[in-house]
Amino acid sequence: MAEQLTLTPVIPIPAHLVGQVQAKLAYVDEAIASASIAADGSRIDLQLRAAAPADLEAKVQSVVQDMASGASKPKVEVLEDHLQRGVPYAADPMPELEQRGEVHQETNGVYSFGPLLANLIGVFEDYFLELAAEFGAKPQRFPTLISAEMLGRVNYFRAFPHSLTFATHLREDLHIISDFAENTVYEPAGLSASLESFSKIQALLSPAVCYHLYFGLADKPLPGGQLAATAVGHCFRYESSNLNSLERLWDFTMREVIFVGSREYVLDNREAARQKVTPWLQELGLAYMVESANDPFFVGEFRKQAAFQNAFQLKYEIRARLPFKDSTLAVGSYNYHQDFFGRHLNITLPDGKPAHTGCVAFGLERMAYAFLAQYSLDPAQWPAIVREARAWA
Ligand code: ATP
Ligand code: ZN
Ligand code: MG
Repeated sequence: MAEQLTLTPVIPIPAHLVGQVQAKLAYVDEAIASASIAADGSRIDLQLRAAAPADLEAKVQSVVQDMASGASKPKVEVLEDHLQRGVPYAADPMPELEQRGEVHQETNGVYSFGPLLANLIGVFEDYFLELAAEFGAKPQRFPTLISAEMLGRVNYFRAFPHSLTFATHLREDLHIISDFAENTVYEPAGLSASLESFSKIQALLSPAVCYHLYFGLADKPLPGGQLAATAVGHCFRYESSNLNSLERLWDFTMREVIFVGSREYVLDNREAARQKVTPWLQELGLAYMVESANDPFFVGEFRKQAAFQNAFQLKYEIRARLPFKDSTLAVGSYNYHQDFFGRHLNITLPDGKPAHTGCVAFGLERMAYAFLAQYSLDPAQWPAIVREARAWA
């Protein structure tokens, strides 16, 4: 029986952490259907699918404790602020996209797109390829699956276990495969087959694009001492009950421009990329801001890692305004990983030191969604660089 549970956090949740703690509550217990935290951090409301298990409150409170105790508000650095730029539209584009058959949901967080969205993403992609070319970035194609061994080497399982998506297959066994073929049916909870029938995990669905480049460079000197590359790829992040229309998908696509080399090379290029993207966002007419941010680390790693990223300005997000809900959505990020991948993967510079890495990453579905949320589905309302880029039917 569905019910509701209201809890008072053991320690008040600082306002700047409310969104991030709330997002983690989705992973605390399967009984939680959704969670919301009051904006001032004083109250947690849980919608439950089933009666509350005995240890539910303790689990919720431990997340609050781990993420919020001793947390100090990071100094948010705002590099660009065009959030109040005038835009012509203020409704959610999703109902119209659905009604026109432009989006089709296959399962939770998994969508196919029709011609309008495909073309719009094509326009953005044309620009990202131009941007990449300005850095002499070489094109690459990466697989959709990613090595479990290599993800382990870069501590991904420790940092982001909650959002992993695993690839498996039936074990090589005549009885298991025949039994699966004859008896497996889809049930609302998922396929009826027993987990015993499946292999151990050797590969996962890739959570990011640039990891593939670093894995390919592992355990050797970096050719030429520096390089720029670009690739687009499907990325998978299981966002549980945080999955939400086109804002937060399980399966999405990212375009990245990636830099590997010395500290200066990576930082200079990350900044140069930002300076080139700014006038494009201007022409696009996007209402957005760029500000410092941190990655969505899981509970145990959150406090330390998020503070570290903030303190060293390792991540800046391009946050577009969603006028219909008076909020913002990250459509891209400028990232600097220091020599993290260089050290863990043994990628060496000519002086023998580990290479530094960084990337500029754009979420293609979010770019399209934020643009339509500000400019509607009517090309007549669009800025010229988009309107004139294609023949819109
Ligand atoms: P968020 O803070 O919204 O969870 P993120 O900071 O984890 O996103 P990055 O790791 O910086 O995202 O990924 C680069 C871009 O990929 C994001 O700016 C966003 O546009 C896109 N992206 C990330 N996660 C998702 C998702 N679940 N669905 C759709 N796009 C996503
Ligand atoms: Zn990246
Ligand atoms: Mg983010």
